[in-house]
Parts: sequence; structure tokens; C-alpha cells
Amino acid sequence: MAELATEPIVYSFTDHRVYREESPLVIAEGEGIRIRDTAGKEYIDALSGLWHANLGFSDTELIEAATSAYRRLPAFPCALGRGSAEAEALAHELLAAAEGRFSSVYFAASGSEAVESVLKFLWLASNADGTPDRKLVVTRDSGFHGTTLGAASLAGIPNQHAGFDLPLPFTVRVPRAHYYRDHLDGESRAEYVDRIVRTTRSRIEEAGPENVAAMVAEPVMAAGGVLVPPEEYWPAMDRLLTDLGIPLVADEVVCGFGRLGPLFGHRRFGLRPAAVTVAKGITAGYAPLGAVLLGPDLTRSVAGAAESYGVLGHGSTFGGHPVAAAVARANLRALAERGIEARVAALEASLRACLAGLPELPVVGEVRCVGGLAAVELMADGASRRPFDPERRIGRRVARKARELGLIVRDLGDVLALCPPLITDAGDVAEIVSRLRAAITATLKEET
Ligand code: PLP
Repeated sequence: MAELATEPIVYSFTDHRVYREESPLVIAEGEGIRIRDTAGKEYIDALSGLWHANLGFSDTELIEAATSAYRRLPAFPCALGRGSAEAEALAHELLAAAEGRFSSVYFAASGSEAVESVLKFLWLASNADGTPDRKLVVTRDSGFHGTTLGAASLAGIPNQHAGFDLPLPFTVRVPRAHYYRDHLDGESRAEYVDRIVRTTRSRIEEAGPENVAAMVAEPVMAAGGVLVPPEEYWPAMDRLLTDLGIPLVADEVVCGFGRLGPLFGHRRFGLRPAAVTVAKGITAGYAPLGAVLLGPDLTRSVAGAAESYGVLGHGSTFGGHPVAAAVARANLRALAERGIEARVAALEASLRACLAGLPELPVVGEVRCVGGLAAVELMADGASRRPFDPERRIGRRVARKARELGLIVRDLGDVLALCPPLITDAGDVAEIVSRLRAAITATLKEET
């Protein structure tokens, strides 16, 4: 044990073996899309922190909203039948922004807590509705939905389960939508979608649709590798879920608040979820906040259960914190006033244009982009889809090289993920892609 390299912070989602060779990157300040470490080195943060600092690191409107909210009411819960004016106003604004599709908002302090809460609400509703067998939840390979016991059980990423005795046995795992990696030779996108949706149906039928409470899915998987589904996927899934009578919970912790363009990510695909989980971008990352938007059916069931038990036996101290709520309200105003949907369309166009050159590199198998999310998937041979030996940790090494070049990207295996702040302009997109290209080229040069 004495030989283990340790740090004063137990950093999450980190390979702690790296501490033998390098220290954590410690950031002292930020401005616009740039951050500076304690030694003064500057980076473009093309991951927006952890997919959350959507307006960059110096938005004065959000900072003002936070400071003035601190002066008015620095602490108050949404519990015991009491709440703050900011949280109350935010709930109304969220419901109005969702154009009447949802009836109530539950506030949490993080994405994991929002997902965990919706799982508990689904179970509460199943019991309240007299269908206590409806407890299974459909979830996809490569999915990521947070780290609490229930949310982590939904994950389709092995490192989220290893050593934690997870998943808990309430999930029905179905295929992800990753055409590039998973299609059979010669299979068209439509044929591929048809096949995976048939597999999804048969897994649900094996479990019994009458035992299924919901499917939880991200409109676009982020941490699973920025998997942009083929256009046929969501319409086919929508038909399947409707046919089987299974509600969809859209996990928009990454996809919400403009990341895919529209305020709510499910709108990009015309989905009609029964509930939506949000966090991260709801405050552009400036304060911790999560939320669940509940449709009329879930609202009714949860309210009914709370009445019959005499209390809603679920909640948290920090959920709907008044300062976080004030920041979220300022963020909603900023997104509307600054025309975020059009800005994200421009960001997507720049990302597509700049990334289009990367497949010239033989190790670039695929580039993917939707809204302000993009990914570059590296392969030993892109054309034949032959992956690198995972032991070579190519993705990690490219990300480390990018960092040397002043660029923060996320390595998800050999996928490099980009999630730049939504305020990133065309010139900075070009700079991001040029540094990424240089990092890929330099890493492979070191190999030979
Ligand atoms: N859901 C999705 C889709 C996420 O990407 C994340 C975090 O990355 C979470 C839930 C968990 O959010 P948090 O880290 O705020 O707990």
C-alpha cells in the first residue's frame, strides 16, 4: 500500500496509475473558452469542463445572477412544503419552456441524483398504480447515467460496474446505436437499425413488457462515445416503445440546454418522453443543480403516492438551491436572448467543416457531430474498422499530447470527444481541430 501514488483529492473518472508519472491538471482561472493552470499555461477547454460549462468560464450575466441571489437568500431547501422564490419561478419557467408537455419539476443537486430520483419515482408510480411488477428499466450498451447505485446500474460501460457489485438486477440491456462500429459488412444504416430494434424488442419481450417501468436513454450518448444515432433509429424506437406501452425517460444531462441545438435535446429527434432528467447545462455549470421534469401521468402517480403514504419520502437538502435556481433562470434568459439554437447550428456547421478533413488520416475511422457535440474515433485501420490494441492506450496518449498543445479533449477509449462551450466561434473551432490533428499525428509519429 505504501507504494501507491495518492493525491489529496480522490479524482473521479481518472486512471490513478497516472499519478506515478504526472500530477493532476489544476486550473486556477478561466475566461471565455480558455482556462489557465496554476503554472500559467493556457488551454482551450473543448470539453466545457465535464460537458457542462456551456457558456464558457466568464459569463458576467450568470455571475451577477449568482451574486445577487446570494445577497437575497443564500440558502434554502425545496422541502417540508417550503421553497424559495427562485426555485418556484424556475419550475414555472422550465415547464413553460417545455410547452406544456410536463406538469411538475423535481429538483436535485446533480445529474446522478436526478436519474436516481426518476428511478425511484417510476417504482413509486408502479406501486401506486397497482402494477407492482413494473420495476425493470431498459437501458443500452455504452449508456452512462450517473454514479449512484441505481443510476450506475443503468450504465452499459463495464468500468462503472467493476468492483462495485453492480448492476443491481433491475435492468434490461439492449443494443446501443453505433452504426460505424456495430454494422455488419454490407449492412445499410436502415438495415442496421432494423436489426438492433428487433433485438431490442426481443430482449424486452423476454423480460415481459408488463414488467418494464420505462426505458432511460440519452438522445445522443455522450460518455458512451458521442454516438450519433442513424436518423432511422429514434423513429423506430418511438414506434417500438409505443407498441409495447413503455414510457421513455430522456436523460438530457448532457443533451439539454442547447447542446444539441434546441433547449431540450429530445426535440431534435421529435421524441415524446414521459420524463426528462437534466443537470450540467441547466446552470451552464455555474452552480450544482439537477432536475426531473415529470409528465402528467408520473406527476399524478407521485402525488397520489405521496398522499397515500402521508409524505413523499424522497428529497435532498441542496436540490433546487436558490442560488443555483437563480443561475438557471439567468441561463434560460441568456439562451433565449442570445439565440442559442442558431448559434449552435453555426457551431455544428463549423465543427463539421473542420472535422471533415480528419478522415484523411488513416487512423481516423469516423468523425461524428451533432449540435455542439463531436467525436473522432481512432482505429488502427479506419477503412477496415480494425481497432487499436487497447493496451496501447492511443486515445489517452492523444488526449495527453493535446493537453501539451493547449487543448483539453476527453478520451473515451480511442474516441476523442469534443463538447466545446456553445459560445465557441468558427476561428476557435478551427484552432481546436488543428491542435487535435497535431496531437493525433504527433502521437502516431512517436509510435514509429
Ligand atoms: N446522465 C448523463 C447522461 C451524464 O452524462 C451524467 C454525467 O456525466 C450524469 C447523468 C450524471 O450527472 P452528475 O455527474 O451531475 O451526477
